[in-house]
Amino acid sequence: MEVVSDIRGDDEMLATRLRAALGDDQVRTGEAISDRYLGDWSTERRGRPAVLVLPRSTEDVSRALAACHALRRPVVPQGGLTGLAGGAVPDEGAVVLSLERLNRIECLDADSATLTVQAGVPLQAIQEAAQAAGFLCGLDLGARGSCQIGGNISTNAGGNRVIRYGMTRDLVLGLEAVLPDGTVLSMMNQMGKNNTGIDLKQLFIGSEGTLGVVTRAVLRLHPGISGANTALVALDGFDSALKLLRHARQALSGQVSAFEVMWRDYYQAATSLEGARAPLAADYPLYVLLDMQSPRPQDDAARFQGVLEHALEQGWAQDAAIAQSHGDAEAFWALRDSVAEMLPKLAPTLNFDVSVPISRIGTCVERMRAAMESGFPGIAHMYFGHVGDGNVHIVAGPLPADGGLTEHGIEEAFYTIVRDLSGSVSAEHGIGLHKRPWLEYSRSPAEIQLMRTLKQALDPQGIMNPGKILES
Ligand code: FAD
Repeated sequence: MEVVSDIRGDDEMLATRLRAALGDDQVRTGEAISDRYLGDWSTERRGRPAVLVLPRSTEDVSRALAACHALRRPVVPQGGLTGLAGGAVPDEGAVVLSLERLNRIECLDADSATLTVQAGVPLQAIQEAAQAAGFLCGLDLGARGSCQIGGNISTNAGGNRVIRYGMTRDLVLGLEAVLPDGTVLSMMNQMGKNNTGIDLKQLFIGSEGTLGVVTRAVLRLHPGISGANTALVALDGFDSALKLLRHARQALSGQVSAFEVMWRDYYQAATSLEGARAPLAADYPLYVLLDMQSPRPQDDAARFQGVLEHALEQGWAQDAAIAQSHGDAEAFWALRDSVAEMLPKLAPTLNFDVSVPISRIGTCVERMRAAMESGFPGIAHMYFGHVGDGNVHIVAGPLPADGGLTEHGIEEAFYTIVRDLSGSVSAEHGIGLHKRPWLEYSRSPAEIQLMRTLKQALDPQGIMNPGKILES
């Protein structure tokens, strides 16, 4: 594949071209670029961008890309910068294109149950707009206040409600994207059914800004909810969690909206944080946060309680606490969401976001624990995740300062286990920079070659987010 030339055009010439195309207020250089644009939530930092572009419209994005294309300058799209895989981190001298000013909610069509938005709208604003009109946006994640829908689409974000509503991909009906040469592809489909050949929008969902820039989207909305039945359940092991999941899905007619598992080490760390509540004793092997959202939660309470009673009678559940108020439910969720507070205590950490078929998660965690205990004693490791989706997160740390040797060793051990269990090295955060060396553990040589062929076809000059997902 042809790669971006090492000999970059003159930065000043580029900035002048961009200013002429977009206006002064959309282009920043040098010290006027704040450090916030140097990277995302990952600790990876590569260098200072030469230019920051802050477009206000699709046409501005198109003009900016056309100018960069003409000068063969690498462009790094940035959303809310909450990504965890280093996908939005620019190299020294790159052009950063931030979508933060494309932040308009354009229209809510109640009859079609769709919401049309620009790419830079924060997820939380979308959730609130949907709720105000009696609908629900099925996407929800801890970074909701900062992440943007364009970033969610580009990473195919998962989050807390995938078991009920699917990944971001399942919520996108239509998309507008700008190709690296500035061509605008408007695919703002609003229908649930549209089988007119290859579904091109899928190319831009989950491709982490390597094929083009997402500028607008049509999102599918779901019927609104007014609350949830929520419980925290203590279990004697992963087999019991599988039985509870299967039973809950059937007994609640597919309405389970979260099935989050915390292994004992995670639960103990979460409940020891300042201000945390411990609704159940902390010495059970496993805890499940079970949640069922609905328009009238009180109508479903008996069915929900019945599931828990059945689990206790069968001996799968050892104890259970049902949230009696919104405050209780928030306290249960706070335990599950408290990883951000735990990370500084374990820093420097290594964070994993893997998936394996649900039935193999117990084996996966057991093998990982054994690998840590035999190969890396003294490093803490905690396990939790969206187990209803086959997704486990692992945090390990603190890592010793040995130039990345331990990090590489743990990654190799864990990703080998994942590969042996037919899993994926990234369930939801994406490949970015961090997981690029491990892509081949989950994708075949033929698949990786097809990714390269697509990249070459859409971005022959290799300017779009080079070095992310694949080597440039
Ligand atoms: P950024 O970080 O800015 O960018 C992410 C990638 O998308 C980069 O490759 C970037 O180049 C590209 N990109 C951004 N915008 C565009 C665009 N408009 N067009 C083309 N490319 C673009 N993720 C989950 O999946 N599930 C979770 O449960 C979850 N929980 C999180 C909790 C916390 C506290 C944090 C900090 C992160 C969490 N994440 C989670 C990760 C992160 O929030 C998601 O990956 C999110 O989708 C990133 O959106 P963003 O707008 O911040 O994108």
